[in-house]
Amino acid sequence: MTSVYPHKKAKALKPSSRRPAKELCSECGLCDTYYIHYVKEACAFINQQIGELEEETHERSRNLDNPDELYFGVHQHMTAARKQQPIEGAQWTGIVSSIAIEMLNRGIVEGVVCVQNTKEDRFQPMPIIARTPEEILAARVNKPTLSPNLSVLEQIEKSGMKRLLVIGVGCQIQALRAVEKQLGLEKLYVLGTPCVDNVNRAGLQKFLETTSRSPETVVHYEFMQDFRVHFKHEDGSTETVPFFGLKTNKLKDVFAPSCMSCFDYVNSLADLVVGYMGAPFGWQWIVVRNDTGKEMLDLVKDQLKTQPVTSQGNRTEAVQQSIPAYDKGVTLPMWAAKLMGVVIEKIGPKGLEYARFSIDSHFTRNYLYVKRNHPDKLDAHVPEFAKRIVGQYKLPE
Ligand code: FAD
Ligand code: SF4
Repeated sequence: MTSVYPHKKAKALKPSSRRPAKELCSECGLCDTYYIHYVKEACAFINQQIGELEEETHERSRNLDNPDELYFGVHQHMTAARKQQPIEGAQWTGIVSSIAIEMLNRGIVEGVVCVQNTKEDRFQPMPIIARTPEEILAARVNKPTLSPNLSVLEQIEKSGMKRLLVIGVGCQIQALRAVEKQLGLEKLYVLGTPCVDNVNRAGLQKFLETTSRSPETVVHYEFMQDFRVHFKHEDGSTETVPFFGLKTNKLKDVFAPSCMSCFDYVNSLADLVVGYMGAPFGWQWIVVRNDTGKEMLDLVKDQLKTQPVTSQGNRTEAVQQSIPAYDKGVTLPMWAAKLMGVVIEKIGPKGLEYARFSIDSHFTRNYLYVKRNHPDKLDAHVPEFAKRIVGQYKLPE
């Protein structure tokens, strides 16, 4: 039988089958659909093509000589914002969920790809195409595990939807942009979040068990700008653990190999990015990449308090010193870690400089990971902007 669809299709892989990107697979979901046909071009871990896709999406690739674009990608504008009335239970103040709800309510899109959790497990991701505000709200808060968001792509074509919003992290969005033209949509909106250090479900359990005092009651956590991991527990209490006290020797293998080789922390191909790391503590950080992103942010402007982004401190020394410490799996005793956290918080990088600190620390770590584990991929897989960022530091052999 000939296909009625204009694009080529292939048989989706079974959940248990090995993915084309092998151990580097981030379980983005593409291979769970017939769009696996395009995997060799589309997969972020097989064919890194951020520069080309930036040109297609934003009409230009980032200007490597502009220091802000080098780090944060193509953008028109950055701002710090928080919702005047935060959404209870959201990861931060719920700007992502609010934009999605507004787009659906105003009929700008017919559906929203987002990720809820399964009934049995609050951290087990369950991607859906939401068609009501309630379904979007039920997807609020991070599922801090690899999530196959693109596994719902076949449903889009079947549903006949023409205008769609996709919420997702960098690796999902790279693959999505690569197959965008095959989806048969009139308009695709992409709302991204930054993403780093993700884990599979078993890795999450190990992280919680090695780091939290009460792993089974954690409902939500974040690596925050005060150099501490903040855990929120079921009873509403908060627990903080300094970054420098993390058991790096035990945690080395926890992060997914995909995340150890990712250089798209800031979600370069989304229209609008909503994170926190370039903003003051308690605020969210917003990067408007293009006119579509501006249109999306404008929808919730009257629900937000905003302030300009700022930058303070100097990250370079702290990054340089953390490179061998991570590499050797050194863990400081808790008293020293707390002291270091306090000192760094007082004198350390803030605002955009904190975001650069986090990008530099992760890119140098990941560069070494790819160099050691996939040396044949190093040159093509590391984007030019990341090579420039990593080039500022002295790396061990
Ligand atoms: P909410 O309104 O609570 O909505 C959250 C949205 O995220 C939901 O729509 C849901 O569909 C989507 N989502 C949840 N889990 C996943 C997932 N696993 N994959 C794809 N989509 C998902 N920001 C930074 O600035 N620095 C970071 O280092 C950073 N790391 C992150 C790591 C992960 C794994 C994730 C998912 C996000 C990360 N973020 C990071 C983004 C940040 O934590 C918030 O998600 C963002 O600021 C939005 O907050 P909110 O309150 O507006 O979101
Ligand atoms: Fe397929 Fe996505 Fe895994 Fe690449 S990362 S192999 S596209 S599921």
